[in-house]
Amino acid sequence: MEIRLQKDNEDVIRDLVNSGRIPHTVIIEGGDGEERKSAAMLLAAGAVCPQNDRPCLCCNACRKVLDGFHPDVFIPEPSKGLKSGILSLRDLRDRYLSQMSVKPNEADVKAYIFLDADKLLREDAQNALLKTIEEPPQNLLFIFTVESAKAMLLTVRSRARIIMLRHTFHADEDSEKAASSIIDGVISLYEYDLLKALNALNEKQALKNALAVFTEKLRQALSFYSGIQPADPAVKKLTRKLDRSRVIAMIGVTNEAAAKLKTNVNIQLLQTWLSSQYRRITWQK
Ligand SMILES: [Zn+2]
Repeated sequence: MEIRLQKDNEDVIRDLVNSGRIPHTVIIEGGDGEERKSAAMLLAAGAVCPQNDRPCLCCNACRKVLDGFHPDVFIPEPSKGLKSGILSLRDLRDRYLSQMSVKPNEADVKAYIFLDADKLLREDAQNALLKTIEEPPQNLLFIFTVESAKAMLLTVRSRARIIMLRHTFHADEDSEKAASSIIDGVISLYEYDLLKALNALNEKQALKNALAVFTEKLRQALSFYSGIQPADPAVKKLTRKLDRSRVIAMIGVTNEAAAKLKTNVNIQLLQTWLSSQYRRITWQK
């Protein structure tokens, strides 16, 4: 298979692999099914790849993982004859659990990838795995992919490293420009600049798109306070003007406006309201 993963999500997996401390149990959540599978395969390849910068995705071990026939990477499939993609407790025991204490064939670890784990593993099966998850042999790696980690048993979840795949927002050029004008308006000394930027968006859809981009930039500004330097100059401007609590307040107000846009709101009134809220947040002592 081909790895299809956004760069920032791929980096998270690679950092984990190359930190040299891959947890025994990893839950991959978020994204779509294909992205979660890609992330799981990337992680498994990283665990068995002998190269320095892992996974290289071109050595023998990596190729075998991607082609689905590495002897130490297992992707348990639903039991035959059962409906709706469930792996029966019996098959889990007979085919997989009984083999887990056997040493790996080629690599240093054996990896088990449970795709759509909440559907594949019922509560009894998750409980059966629990003992191994609690006291994992040195060379075992469990990877569960699931839409939301909350769908897994708490006992499993609490022993796992949870990796959330992020969804990067892709904005069109107009909305990107409009969001930049809003940012310039927010930090301008003159309220007129902000009103002008907002009033230029005289259609609901245009305003909605611009606010979505603006929210995304506010979120990036939030990461700045967790120590991540923004690459986007517009985000940098925001972080120079607004502290963390103001950024959070801005996100709140913007969400409120987005919700109002779904109703039969008068767009000019909304723009005026938004402008005064942004000004209040930015300039209040
Ligand atoms: Zn490799």
